[in-house]
Amino acid sequence: MKKSTRPSWDEYFLKVAMLVSERATCPRMHCGCVLVRDKQILSTGYNGSIPGDAHCEDAGCMVVDNHCVRTIHAEMNAILQCSSHGISTANATAYITNMPCTNCAKALIAAGIKEIVIFSDYHDTLAEKFFKSAKVKIVRLKMPNREIFYNLKSFSSAKKFKK
Ligand SMILES: [Zn+2]
Ligand SMILES: [Zn+2]
Repeated sequence: MKKSTRPSWDEYFLKVAMLVSERATCPRMHCGCVLVRDKQILSTGYNGSIPGDAHCEDAGCMVVDNHCVRTIHAEMNAILQCSSHGISTANATAYITNMPCTNCAKALIAAGIKEIVIFSDYHDTLAEKFFKSAKVKIVRLKMPNREIFYNLKSFSSAKKFKK
């Protein structure tokens, strides 16, 4: 019997955040965020331009004070997706590929996020200071396995499309 590749809940949501980050459009940073409450995904976000605006990849980054300001960050996009769909973010957990920047940390706190789970840090951020004074729990885990273990061939009841 092959060892199970079933991830824990934390690994699962972090892996989703990694997958979401693949949609990011700023070459300086690919970030993914998943907002979760009661083991259910409320929304996802990656860092990308304002809808309809040019992407960093095509038009170049817009760097101010060593930060690219063209994109809306992953955490903001995840919060904004909830706001545009009327979903409460109160008491949710944010699974993010990295420690948020200062502004995203403040937005997550104001949106009622109670816990963040990350697997990497971020430069020039006061996030930890703000999270600590707001009593937001910070959980640092190791990066989950980057492989996706879906294999159609191993499922006896699955059938490939006929060409
Ligand atoms: Zn950029
Ligand atoms: Zn940010």
